[in-house]
Amino acid sequence: MAAHEAWSLVCRLFSGGSPVLRAALSPAEVRASALLGAAIKPTVVNRSFALCPYCQLRNGQIFVDDKGGQFCLCSDCGRIALAPDDRAAVTLDENWLRSRLRMAMDIESRDGVTDLVDGVWRLGDARREPVLLSRSLARLWAEPAIFERVRVSGAGIRVIAPQSPQTRGVPFPLGIEWLPLEERFTFYGGRISYISGANALNAEEPAAADPSGPVNGPFSADFGWVTLPGWSHGLIRCTDGQAAVFRSLWSFKAVEVDGERVMKRAGLSSGKPNDLFKVKQRYKGDPDYEGPLYAYRALVKSNRREGTYWMPCAGGASGSA
Ligand SMILES: [Zn+2]
Repeated sequence: MAAHEAWSLVCRLFSGGSPVLRAALSPAEVRASALLGAAIKPTVVNRSFALCPYCQLRNGQIFVDDKGGQFCLCSDCGRIALAPDDRAAVTLDENWLRSRLRMAMDIESRDGVTDLVDGVWRLGDARREPVLLSRSLARLWAEPAIFERVRVSGAGIRVIAPQSPQTRGVPFPLGIEWLPLEERFTFYGGRISYISGANALNAEEPAAADPSGPVNGPFSADFGWVTLPGWSHGLIRCTDGQAAVFRSLWSFKAVEVDGERVMKRAGLSSGKPNDLFKVKQRYKGDPDYEGPLYAYRALVKSNRREGTYWMPCAGGASGSA
C-alpha cells in the first residue's frame, strides 16, 4: 500500500511540475515520501503566499514583521506567525524519474534523454520505437509537430504522460500509443516497473460512460465536444456543422486538402471550413460561441492562398509525413 502511495505522489509531483508544501501532504504521503528516498528532495517554497499554519485551509499573504520574522495573513485566522518549517516543501527529482523510466522501458543507455520542449522529453528508443515523456497530454495536442521531430519511419511512438480528469479512450491517432503514468508503471523496492499492454488492454471501455470525453485526440467520439485545457470555460460544445468539419479534417489525417473536399466529406454544401466558426458580432465574448472558434484556431491550420486545410493533431505515426 505504501508503495502505491509513493507512486501516486511521484505522479502528482511530476504532473504539477512544481514543489508541494510539506504541510499539504497527507500523513500517508509523508510516509510514502520517506520510501522514495532521494527521489523526493526537500526545498523551500519561495513565494508571497503560504498555507496558513493554523487552519491549514487558506493561503495567506506572507508579510515580514518589525523584528524580521514572517507572518501569514489568513483571511479566517488573521496574523499567524510563520516558522521556517511552514514553508518547507518537497520536490521531485525529475532526473531520477526519467532515468528510472528508461530502465523500466529497457531503453538503451547509450542514447541520452533529449529535452524537446518545455515539459516534453525524448527518453530514448525502446525496441527501436521512440518513447516520449510529457507532463501532460495537452502539451502534445497543442504542439503535435513534436512527433515529427522524433518519428522513425516504420515505427510507432510511445508517450508516457499522466492522466487528466477528462481523459479517456485513445488521445492520439493510430501509431502513437499513450501509456498513462499512473496505470502503466508501478514503484516497488526503489525501482519503477512497466506493466505491459497485455494487462491493460481494456482501458478503452470506460469511454462509453461519458460521451463528451476525448476519444479522438482532443475530440469526443462524435466530435461534438472538444477538451482543450488552454480554454478556461470547460468542455467546448460544437454545433453539428462544426463537429462535421472537425470529423472530416480528422479523417484526412493531417494531410493538407482542399477546403471543398473538407466540406464535401462533412456533408456540407458550400463555403469554407472556417465559415462555420465565425462568431457574430452580438455573440462576441460569449464562451459558448467563442469556444469552437478557439478550438478551430488551436487545432486547424490553413493555407489561405492555396485554399487548403489540415489538422496536425490527426497525423498518426504511420501517417503521410
Ligand atoms: Zn487560517
